[in-house]
Amino acid sequence: MCKLCDDGKPRNHGPSRRDFLKTTAGVGAAAAATAMFAQNTVSAQSMDAPANTGAPGRRVLIRGGAVLSMDSAVGDFTQADVLVEGSRIAAVGPNLSADDATVIEADGMIVMPGFVDTHHHQFETALRSFLADGLLFNDGKPHGAVNYFDYILGKFSKVYRPEDVYINELFGSLSQLDAGVTTVLDISQIHHSPEHSDAAIKGLVDAGRRAAFGYFEGWGDAAKYPDDARRIKRQYFSSTDQLTTMVMGGEIYLPGYEKAWAIGRDLGIPIAVHIVGSFGMAETFDKLAKAGQFGADNIFIHMTGMTDFGWQATKDAGASVSLAVPIEMTMRHGMPPIIKSLEMGIQPSLSTDVECTMTADFFTQMRSTLTLQRALVNQAALSGDEDSPALLTSRDVIRFATVEGARTLKLDGKIGTLTPGKEADLILLDATAINVAPLNHVPGAVVTLMERNNVDTVMVAGKVRKWKGRLLDVDLPKLRRQLETSRDFLFDAAGVKRDLFRT
Ligand SMILES: [Zn+2]
Repeated sequence: MCKLCDDGKPRNHGPSRRDFLKTTAGVGAAAAATAMFAQNTVSAQSMDAPANTGAPGRRVLIRGGAVLSMDSAVGDFTQADVLVEGSRIAAVGPNLSADDATVIEADGMIVMPGFVDTHHHQFETALRSFLADGLLFNDGKPHGAVNYFDYILGKFSKVYRPEDVYINELFGSLSQLDAGVTTVLDISQIHHSPEHSDAAIKGLVDAGRRAAFGYFEGWGDAAKYPDDARRIKRQYFSSTDQLTTMVMGGEIYLPGYEKAWAIGRDLGIPIAVHIVGSFGMAETFDKLAKAGQFGADNIFIHMTGMTDFGWQATKDAGASVSLAVPIEMTMRHGMPPIIKSLEMGIQPSLSTDVECTMTADFFTQMRSTLTLQRALVNQAALSGDEDSPALLTSRDVIRFATVEGARTLKLDGKIGTLTPGKEADLILLDATAINVAPLNHVPGAVVTLMERNNVDTVMVAGKVRKWKGRLLDVDLPKLRRQLETSRDFLFDAAGVKRDLFRT
């Protein structure tokens, strides 16, 4: 039974002025202060999430965590508070006073910006792990029989219905939200009709997460890519004051990409493109570079096997680079160009790519990027290279996973750091957990020790979406059944046998 309630019913103890006055009537000032403190504190043991977070004027004080702001002007704090008002961060610092705020105790937690994924094909959520051992395409070299182009794009993607698109997008979004990835650029090549596009957007919106909707190609007579981009932009993305934005897809291996680029530029939205050397794209890439087609609005994904000329043009244009390091390593895109990117002075963002082949959590992303770069540099040093580049640090890869992701999606004015005035997309990571304690180095613990189970609390635009390890406002068993139903349809329609132990 709750001591604060006279009726014994469990309830949230948010900041209610009326309740505060009722509680304090007839008791002394000191007791009143104590009562207010107790009333506004959501204890670590409570399963009740603070209510109405993110609403205009609603104040939440995240108190006493180790704060990794990722903003050098704000700095880091061994122990400090983050004050959130409405959807925004109001202040970051030690011992903030905010008497009317609900307090979230963050002692033992790391408080940092949510992760930003700059390339994820969420339509494949129902196909998770199907292609765990597969390659990108059959390049005629060994091991290419089961591959992404033949199965995922060639068989599965073509049979998606709008309802499949919706549940895949929604479930994939919620899964990443649970893992502390508060923003995604979704790239789903299932725009077989305007209804498919609408379903993708609805899935992203219903998840209540920040998302850039990537408008890419589809197949069949009803496909309206790229022309439908104008309708989509007008209908869904005319406001900048919302969680979702739009990115244009412009794959240079598809005929007619010039038109997609032109529409994207006309609409003033970023243009994302897969650039894969092993898929023979270096020549077209350099041709576009020579023609002066690159801009700061370009997001180049993978960049494996590109020429020095192509890299220089990318740098000169101020284009962004998104690396999907685990996928590039396992699916034969070529060696992830982390050394080259940094050598060119281009700070990459990170992306999860496809869950048919690899998990979409960001601890895997950061750890893979850190260990690959260090392996390459360490081997160069052992081989006698006295000019080997600096070793990446855990803070570096957190920067790729937050600040650079936000910059890539043109959202750095809104998110990516814990900076007063920015929107409150942040996560609380449990540094008291059995796989992390005792805490001795904050960025190191995040990158080298943590996993998605350590994501305790997640906030998007000030709204608490995960609380004490549990996603809020979702019926996951129901959604999982819908995803399984979609999965069963997709395998059946694609004519692919689901074999749990396929070799
Ligand atoms: Zn991709």
